[in-house]
Amino acid sequence: MKIKALPLDDNINGWSAIIPARQVKKILRGHVRADWLVIGAGYAGLAFARRVAENHPDKQVVIIDAAMTGESASGRNSGFAIDLPHNIGSSTAELEKAANYRRLLQAGIAQLDALIHRHQIECDWHRSGKYHCIVRPERDGLLAQYADELQALDEPYQRLEGKSLAQNLGTDYYHAAIYTPSCVLLNPAALVHGLVDSLPDNVTLYEKSPALEINTGRDVHVRTPYGEVRAGQLMVATNGCARQLAPFSNQLVGLSTFATLTEPLTAEQQQRIGNIAAWGMTPANAIAGATLRYTCDHRFLIRQHVKYVPDYTVTALRTTPLVVQHRQIFLSRFPQLADVQIAHTWSGMISVTRNGAPGWGKYGDNVYAAVGCNGAGISKQTVAGSTLADLATGVDNPLIADMLALGKPNYIPPRPFLDLGVQGSILKERWLGRKEY
Ligand SMILES: Cc1cc2nc3c(=O)[nH]c(=O)nc-3n(C[C@H](O)[C@H](O)[C@H](O)COP(=O)(O)OP(=O)(O)OC[C@H]3O[C@@H](n4cnc5c(N)ncnc54)[C@H](O)[C@@H]3O)c2cc1C
Repeated sequence: MKIKALPLDDNINGWSAIIPARQVKKILRGHVRADWLVIGAGYAGLAFARRVAENHPDKQVVIIDAAMTGESASGRNSGFAIDLPHNIGSSTAELEKAANYRRLLQAGIAQLDALIHRHQIECDWHRSGKYHCIVRPERDGLLAQYADELQALDEPYQRLEGKSLAQNLGTDYYHAAIYTPSCVLLNPAALVHGLVDSLPDNVTLYEKSPALEINTGRDVHVRTPYGEVRAGQLMVATNGCARQLAPFSNQLVGLSTFATLTEPLTAEQQQRIGNIAAWGMTPANAIAGATLRYTCDHRFLIRQHVKYVPDYTVTALRTTPLVVQHRQIFLSRFPQLADVQIAHTWSGMISVTRNGAPGWGKYGDNVYAAVGCNGAGISKQTVAGSTLADLATGVDNPLIADMLALGKPNYIPPRPFLDLGVQGSILKERWLGRKEY
């Protein structure tokens, strides 16, 4: 099968721009043979490759990626390693599913935490927790529902509003928030660099080496611009781009979302917002609202706007309007920081399925995939990758049952019906969340 489109985010990823620059290590040239080929070096592909290599130190694992390490969604996101499910529901079945999902998310965080400490990965990994915020008092019902769900899961939380919330965040823009303590905040590009640099010796990564043609059979044969790989087994971890491959063409959709980092605040600017500690907040409406962070190095991150990109391409021209939009969002919360400059604004791809279930499992005699992450990919795709590797290599892991319990993606119709449906859903969410903007 020929790959017709490759991901393109034609703008600078702010997270990698603020850490030491990285050179491409290896581009695939010529013929390579491996026991396992992994396509995609995001959280899913890296966790899968690591676990297969650990389970079978005698096997050779090759990873190919179209981009450079840390330059795709895994290094471009807002940097929340999410520990808890949202929108759980209240039936016993829904609660059981939420408990499975929580186990997976927390296992993903524990796995990353262990690697960060073992390999001393410097990525500003801090268990700062997360504020889930509403702007308008009319939306209080959303927080009450979230609090009920947290109680049902027996999770600790704190409700904050008024002065105490404003003191913690340095702004009185938000009406109220539910704070949960175990979400981890980090620099995602630095994390991906560290994960790549600590891969086992029997894993070889080729960057800037996109799969252009994939043929499966008794052996897998994949062509790249300057070379080819033959392998016994294949794992696909290409996120939204997997839509080009059966069976995902009628299961998932690729969307883009946008993020901005400001310059670091000076000591005097920090004083203006009360010398607060680093924090992260998510909005009541993820499509219309804005996610914000105040980082350890005193920058603000703003993540906002979701766009349907069926061609996987976001040019710098498409990103430019977001610079103004994100600045307005920042100033509406922090008018006293009008002299803080925007440093970088960029886009990145997310993939969603209709019912939120992942594309995960065995898809042929020697083909596996972990795609369609529906957000929360730092923790979720890490655990999706490692559990899939255990499944593929016959290693018992109770989390495999939790992954299976998440179900399979629902059918989505072909284009142009899909285009209308996705654009309609985004518009509806923007309308519903317009007051939480
Ligand atoms: C702006 C933004 C903010 C986000 N915020 C958060 C957050 O705070 N917390 C969170 O958990 N998640 C967040 N996400 C989502 C998160 O980034 C994704 O869920 C996660 O990166 C998915 O991991 P993955 O390994 O499945 O895919 P990816 O990270 O997208 O990796 C897929 C890889 O496949 C490669 N690829 C694609 N096609 C080919 C090909 N033909 N050949 C070779 N390689 C190919 C790509 O180059 C890419 O490196 C955010 C995403 C964005 C864009």
